[in-house]
Amino acid sequence: MNRDSGSETKNIMKYFNKLEQIESFRDKEKNTLSSVTEKFDFRCNEYYLSLINWDDPDDPIRRAIIPSIEELDEWGRLDPSNEHTYSVMPGLEHKYNSTVLLLVSNVCEGICRYCFRKRIFINPQSEYLRDLPAAIRYIKEHTEITNVLLTGGDPLVLKTSKLEEIISQLRTIDHVHIVRIGTKMPAFNPYRIINDPDLLKMIEKYSSEWKKIYIMMHFIHPRELTDAAVKAVTMLQKAGAITTNQMPLIKGINADYKILAELLKKLSFIGAVPYYIFQCRPAMGNKAYTVPIEQGYEIVQKAKSLVSGLAKRARYVMSHSSGKIEVVGKTEQCTIFKYHRAADDLESGRIMVLKSNPNAYWFDDYTEIIEEYPNNLPYRIYGPE
Ligand code: SF4
Repeated sequence: MNRDSGSETKNIMKYFNKLEQIESFRDKEKNTLSSVTEKFDFRCNEYYLSLINWDDPDDPIRRAIIPSIEELDEWGRLDPSNEHTYSVMPGLEHKYNSTVLLLVSNVCEGICRYCFRKRIFINPQSEYLRDLPAAIRYIKEHTEITNVLLTGGDPLVLKTSKLEEIISQLRTIDHVHIVRIGTKMPAFNPYRIINDPDLLKMIEKYSSEWKKIYIMMHFIHPRELTDAAVKAVTMLQKAGAITTNQMPLIKGINADYKILAELLKKLSFIGAVPYYIFQCRPAMGNKAYTVPIEQGYEIVQKAKSLVSGLAKRARYVMSHSSGKIEVVGKTEQCTIFKYHRAADDLESGRIMVLKSNPNAYWFDDYTEIIEEYPNNLPYRIYGPE
């Protein structure tokens, strides 16, 4: 299937949404995996598929995009961070006081097998922003909002003119300084950026001295940093965007300290500030992509020990329903967490020392509190929500 990937310039990329369309893929595997794609959609383009070494069954790019039978293991939830709790209207989430999320797209250039928001592909209309004027009104009325994150789905799947319609309206609001675009497009299809001068002009127009556009990229493996990808990142930077990178720690892809170190190092070389390394959320179908938290902490620390200060700025965090919880340390008996951001401002910065649980995949798997600071806040119960 051919489709225009957002760009209004000529950018014909071949897309696949059925495994049968992929020649390099063996027939036997295609049949086995049809039960997976019936449950969780498959989508990819020819560029990203070209990064796969088909001779290697454990190829990390293959693991990122090609379905696996392990996705059928019963585990996780469709909305693991309870995003619905913070939805003010379909497609607008307001969890942290200075930041809102607008889910402006329900499509991605490819579908990552470890996606934490796969519910949007299962029920595409449910959380997509349909009433932009109402969202703009809400943001105008809430003067505490300084940051708007455009996400989805991938905002860069939208045509540039549609994206500009959204950003230009946000730029009429004095208190909104930062517009973030959360996108995997530089990894999935850098030509969407390279071949669209209008996108770069739009960024130049709306990223100014006190009002920057941040591009929150999603590189997960050093092999995604092709010449084309690095060129796209550089073009975004030259247009005036600040580029950062956030990624989950994924078993079989980057949950290996040497690979993670190489990725962090190269991201710092190209000016893509390593911002967050996420613990994989307990999303449905994701068990096989997830490492336990304490193992993840060791991997991140070892990787950080190999790179410069600029490369190790990323925090290892969980996007928990109560806030962004950083895994800050570990002793033989304890794991130490800190609210990097909290839905309830009172909790921000709170330190929690919890009894170690090497089998914990999420904050809720910790049940025993050793110490908290400050400890004069209302008593909280840890454990499953
Ligand atoms: S780019 Fe993000 S939203 Fe899209 S499939 Fe990947 S993880 Fe999910």
